Amino acid sequence: MLPVALLAQKHEVENVSSHFLNGRKCISNFHAVAIGQENADNIRSKLPLLTAQAATDFVLESEQASLAGRHYSFVQFLKGLEVYQSQVRVSTNGKGTVTAVLDNSVHQPVFVHEKLKAVSALPFIQPLLNGKQLHTQKEMWLPDADNKLRNVYVLKTEGAHGSWSEVIADNHNIIFERDLNMYFAPPDSTVKGFVFLPDPLTTAGKVYGGIYVDNADADAQWLTDERKQIDFTADFDNGTFRLRNSFVRISDYDLPSLAVATSTTPEFNFTRSQSGFEQVSVMYHISEFGKYVQQMGFNNANVLLEADAHAVNGADNSYFAFNYNPMRLYFGIGGVDDAEDADVVIHEYSHFLSYRASPNSNVGPEREALDEAFCDYNAASYSRAINAFNWGRVYNWDGHNEFWNGRVVNSSKIYPANMGSSIYRNGEIWSSMLMQLWSDIGKAVTDKLIFQAHFSFAQNMSFLDAANLLLQADQQLFGGQYYCPITQRLHERGLLPAGKTLCPIGIDEVANELPVQVFGSENWLVITSGETLWNATVEVFDASGRSVYTAPMHDGTHRMNTQGLSAGIYIIKVKADARSKVMKWLKKH
Ligand SMILES: [Zn+2]
Repeated sequence: MLPVALLAQKHEVENVSSHFLNGRKCISNFHAVAIGQENADNIRSKLPLLTAQAATDFVLESEQASLAGRHYSFVQFLKGLEVYQSQVRVSTNGKGTVTAVLDNSVHQPVFVHEKLKAVSALPFIQPLLNGKQLHTQKEMWLPDADNKLRNVYVLKTEGAHGSWSEVIADNHNIIFERDLNMYFAPPDSTVKGFVFLPDPLTTAGKVYGGIYVDNADADAQWLTDERKQIDFTADFDNGTFRLRNSFVRISDYDLPSLAVATSTTPEFNFTRSQSGFEQVSVMYHISEFGKYVQQMGFNNANVLLEADAHAVNGADNSYFAFNYNPMRLYFGIGGVDDAEDADVVIHEYSHFLSYRASPNSNVGPEREALDEAFCDYNAASYSRAINAFNWGRVYNWDGHNEFWNGRVVNSSKIYPANMGSSIYRNGEIWSSMLMQLWSDIGKAVTDKLIFQAHFSFAQNMSFLDAANLLLQADQQLFGGQYYCPITQRLHERGLLPAGKTLCPIGIDEVANELPVQVFGSENWLVITSGETLWNATVEVFDASGRSVYTAPMHDGTHRMNTQGLSAGIYIIKVKADARSKVMKWLKKH
């Protein structure tokens, strides 16, 4: 039986923990603190938060490296017992300065009772587990929103289809159950195969309906025609090619039981009715995205993952389970096979990448919405770069049909007015804001910013904390070059953090043949293009028509220092071949 609530899966199924721990919010601090020599011990002894409470001890739980620095999670212990969901996430610039602290620890705790009566919860909990296997149990403090702590057992159980959950119990009852599913490299050889790239409707330029339907996974000529031939690396062992490489290993650990395809030639050629087709699809899209993450310079794809391309016993859902080694992905085959749509593959893989960037941090209603948004954003960013048709829809093939509605990344929803109870629908605010930045400043920059930010993500954080971390990532990776477009888009969504101001603009469009935007601040103009422009130039004229500035524009972005210009009206002209964009600009000071 499937659990009632799965965390971080594809569809809109809510997670009960959001409701149980409602009211606990992390305390965030983005002020720089110098700590000298950078290591966990020094952070613990120099940060006032981690030393202030005498009865408190903080233990290092994990440590990650990102492009901009290092990231540490400490968990809180009181009277020798760990406090449930008490992570303090500390980010540094890698050079002895703490840049962000997101604190979920309990301050001024009130102890409700001291010690559990039984040594083990097992005798009374076993009959309540409905046949699930008990893996670990730990005595912990469970805090509520008022910092009252009660003594509980925290148990990890495993049910069918990789449905791990965390069960919290006292001496007699289960208090709540939280689902934990989120939703070797021998010599590799290059092999060929066929996949949808990113899905058959996008490449056909169609929407779901008519002949463009799933038809119970049957082959159809139009679907076979939409397959694209691709290369990927596979393992070659004893004369046999296998679907595994340093990113992912295709396995069959869940029902339905369908053998993993192998080949004696370097070719994996299948049509969609064959199970090898979905296996190659998972293999290819994960490998491509994993390579891309490595090329960006991040290390969170450098660990092997396992994937079952036909899982969850026929259900129309997919998820990520981190309680295995290697961690696992499950792709359902209800409705359209999930693994046939690159958006689903990249979404689930992104949960793994987020987990690897900041382990055990996906807790709390806004934090969970941010994870769904990251996964939807990555899916949209990946497939929009391949083919921009209908890019505002995620899951073009798997969703937006009779099986489920899918989601969008071009929503106009704002924070907090349009926040509801669904982490998936709330996530559309953040993913849609990121896709606007994608159009403004490009895929490469936006991808890098959101990946960097995820390394500092923490339990119970808010959308505004994420906004601060996005701006910090821009400061750390690009010297603040994109401050103006980012604050503008955050502002439009109701997400401009306190203390951040918009750039004064005062720019009117005169002619608009190029997808170019200009953002202005006191001393800078940032000119960005949504498409890659070759041979583009930026020219600025004063009110008398005299040219005062000329520069080539490279890589879709140009930053111009305007300090030397006196106040007044200017004309900004961006030209690329026969097209141009002309804007009138009022420099106020
Ligand atoms: Zn998800």
